Amino acid sequence: MTQTQKDPAKSLSSIDTSVAMGDKAATSSQNPKCLFCASPLAQTFVDLGMSPLCESYISREQLNQMEPFYPLHVRVCDQCFLVQLQQYVSPEHIFTEYAYFSSFSDTWLAHARDYVDMIAERLKLGSSSMVVELASNDGYLLQNFVKKGIPALGVEPAANVAKVAVEKGVPTLVVFFGRNTAEKMVANGKKADLIIGNNVLAQVPDINDFVGGISILLKPHGVATLEFPHLVKLMEQNQFDTIYHEHFSYFSLISVEKIFAAHGLAVFDVEELSTHGGSIRIYARHANDTSMPVSARLVDLRNRELALGLDRMNTYSSFAEQVKATKRNLLEFLIQARRSGSKVVGYGAPGKGNTLLNYCGIRTDFLDFTVDRNPYKQGKFLPGTHIPIFPVEKIDEARPDYVLILPWNFKDEIIKQMARIRSWGGKFVVPIPNVQIIP
Ligand SMILES: [Zn+2]
Repeated sequence: MTQTQKDPAKSLSSIDTSVAMGDKAATSSQNPKCLFCASPLAQTFVDLGMSPLCESYISREQLNQMEPFYPLHVRVCDQCFLVQLQQYVSPEHIFTEYAYFSSFSDTWLAHARDYVDMIAERLKLGSSSMVVELASNDGYLLQNFVKKGIPALGVEPAANVAKVAVEKGVPTLVVFFGRNTAEKMVANGKKADLIIGNNVLAQVPDINDFVGGISILLKPHGVATLEFPHLVKLMEQNQFDTIYHEHFSYFSLISVEKIFAAHGLAVFDVEELSTHGGSIRIYARHANDTSMPVSARLVDLRNRELALGLDRMNTYSSFAEQVKATKRNLLEFLIQARRSGSKVVGYGAPGKGNTLLNYCGIRTDFLDFTVDRNPYKQGKFLPGTHIPIFPVEKIDEARPDYVLILPWNFKDEIIKQMARIRSWGGKFVVPIPNVQIIP
């Protein structure tokens, strides 16, 4: 849910990172190299054309100004099979204002609570343990450890969200995570029994520095759990809208195992989760810590990925055509709805919505407006498409025929919350994996 680089002026190590990444961005745009193994990247996975940064919401004053667009061209490495987006923008340009607060989603809060109950029990964590979460956002997850009396520390580079965490009683370092930060934390006696990274690994520009940092920070018998969207689901379910400039890596289990192994870490267990359209949670430990054996479900998922052909380049070549078909189907629905005089609005203003709308060319000619519960987004406009964002109540006022759910990963929650649109005959539309109308 959170990213690793926002508000870069706030910490020393962030300045180091952005300088380093600026250099890398400059060279990689001429000669793209794999983020992990540095092999030349020759094969396209999908090319979504030019798109603005998906979290750069536009204010009314900015509507008449120039807006930068960058390529969304995803490639796959033929050596390590990491699917990846080149870094086109240096981190200080990516997040000027961080609008995402994890606490705005009920489903995600419940997911965090369940995880904490499970892991505290599984690892027998107590008052002498240390839990560290990387990209801890507003403390929505760590607050559950604090309530149990388990010491917890957040690492969150966005000062505005970290401040909210501290107010909740969750100690939080405002800093970027990598080897440097890990070494400083260890020097301050903060080695971790448990390191958590939820929806951060994909957004790390220097994956070797980040995973190397985990290896440094983790106690000899410590465990790291990381959650990220699963490439298999992205491919099977046409989830191309989860591709955006802030997401550099799209992981399979076999690619992430290679990356962790290169830093002395072994993945020993994995769970498949329904969050974000299908994620995996990996459990990693030091490679030489054999106290925790490799689970049967890890071997099973690895074998399924191999059976799907994720270690062969031709498996990756059909995705682009699938994406084009999804675009044509969505446009077909919208054109027909508008021709017949139906009113269509959006629900939500997530990053994935911006990839979808920009790639498909959907502007206010198709969607009158969208709504979002997050007050930071209300009153602003979607990047690129300039669709206005209103509070949710705007839907009750407009009484649209169709509500297009942009954060489709939360569709069940949204359909429940917005069930009242049925009172005027309104229907829900989900764009991914295929256009689906839900009366
Ligand atoms: Zn590679």
